[in-house]
Formats: sequence, structure tokens, C-alpha cells
Amino acid sequence: MYVGPFSNNWGTIYHVVISLPDPPENPINTRYPVNEIFQTIQGEGVFTGVPAIFLRLQGCPVGCPWCDTKHTWETNASDRVSAEHMLAKTEASAHWAELTADDILQLFKQQNFTAKHVVITGGEPAMFDLRPLAEVLESQGMRLQIETSGTFPIQTSAATWVTVSPKLDMPGGYLVRPDCMQRADEIKYPIAMQKHLDAFDKLLQSCPPRTDAIIALQPISQRPRATELAIEICQQRNWRLSVQLHKYLNIE
Ligand code: SF4
Repeated sequence: MYVGPFSNNWGTIYHVVISLPDPPENPINTRYPVNEIFQTIQGEGVFTGVPAIFLRLQGCPVGCPWCDTKHTWETNASDRVSAEHMLAKTEASAHWAELTADDILQLFKQQNFTAKHVVITGGEPAMFDLRPLAEVLESQGMRLQIETSGTFPIQTSAATWVTVSPKLDMPGGYLVRPDCMQRADEIKYPIAMQKHLDAFDKLLQSCPPRTDAIIALQPISQRPRATELAIEICQQRNWRLSVQLHKYLNIE
């Protein structure tokens, strides 16, 4: 914004330029494409065993061939449904509902969810500005965790627990970002064979995480050889093992 000109008693003319910050975004106006909301037990990583509300957002361009949520990749207008329809889904589908942070909180209350830990997953949740959502949920005493591929800038509250599960050399062509690796509280890496570990080592060298970040290896698809390798490496390096507890328990 430009204001002026002004002059003082000696006739000097001043031109004053004032630039104002953009008005803060109203959280009520930020909308998220929500594929799924459910309460369960966190089955992976540091919070394994913790009761959690899962909020799955629609949309991901990363293109991992083994992705088990391929139905979240595309956000087509023709798949948009009401919140009620989205909640009533009984099987995975590309249907999504557009919800604000306040709508999401209201649905948590309507569903009588009791968990205080909220896992935001996808799809790729870092495609969205999660700060308004964090503001609303944290004001209710909830803790956020996001699970991201590390390929989009992370926009969330300082208190959010960030789990980066780096996806390397995927068909979408997105690179893992050094700023995401630095923001990560936890780095969870799926592994099945030695070449996966070699690629991960290269990433740790080129994009080092914080020294206090927790590193966890997750055997792919509970395969015995993958599990054996992950256990061996975790013991050698004092890393953690993440075993996808929900798959052993056969829960969502
Ligand atoms: S980043 Fe996640 S959601 Fe996206 S394709 Fe890969 S596994 Fe699937």
C-alpha cells in the first residue's frame, strides 16, 4: 500500500510506503478433501498401540507402484459426496467430502470418538495447508501426527508430530525435500531388500535428518526376509522396528 506524499516544516517531501501482511486466512474457509475418517489403534511407528482418529485426505501424485491407497490418488469432482456418504462408506473408494476444520471437529464429536491422537494421512496430506486444521484440533487438546512422503513442503503447527516415510524414485518424479527430512520427528522407511537400504543411506547422506529424529525400518508386507533384514539393521544401528501392528491384528 502507498501513502503520501507528506511534508515536514522544512518543506521536505516524504513518500511513505506501507506494506501490510496478507490478512490471516480464516480457518473456517479452508477446505479439505476427506476420503475417510475412522477411529482405530495406530499400528505403525513411534505411536504404535495408541488409540487414534485417522483422517485420510484425497489426492496424491507420487505414484508408488505398491501403494495400498491408490483410490486416493485422483480428486475428481464426480467423486465428491456429502459428509454422511463419506462416513457411511463400507469399502475403500475414491469418494471424498469437502470439509472445513470445524466440520471435521464436529464429525469427530458426532461419531463419539474418544482418541486424542489424530493421524492425518492420505493420499499425500502435505499437499494441503494443515495449519488451520491443527489450530482447531489442538484447541480441543488433540495431538496431530502427519504421515507424509516428504515430497511437498510441510505446512502444519509446530506441535504436530511429523512422520516422513520417504518415497524415492517414484513414477511421479517428486524428490524428497531436505526441509521435510529436517522437520521430521520420525523417519519411517519401508524395506524389503539390501538395495532399499542402500538408497535410504544415500538419502540420509544427502538430506540429513535432525539428530533427535527417530528412524524406524518397516518390513514391506510382513515378508519374512524383509523382517529378518529390518531386525538385523535395526540392531546394528540402534534404529527402531515398525511392524504394521494393524495388519497382524487384521484391523483397519
Ligand atoms: S505417497 Fe503414499 S499415498 Fe502417495 S502413492 Fe505413495 S504410498 Fe500411495
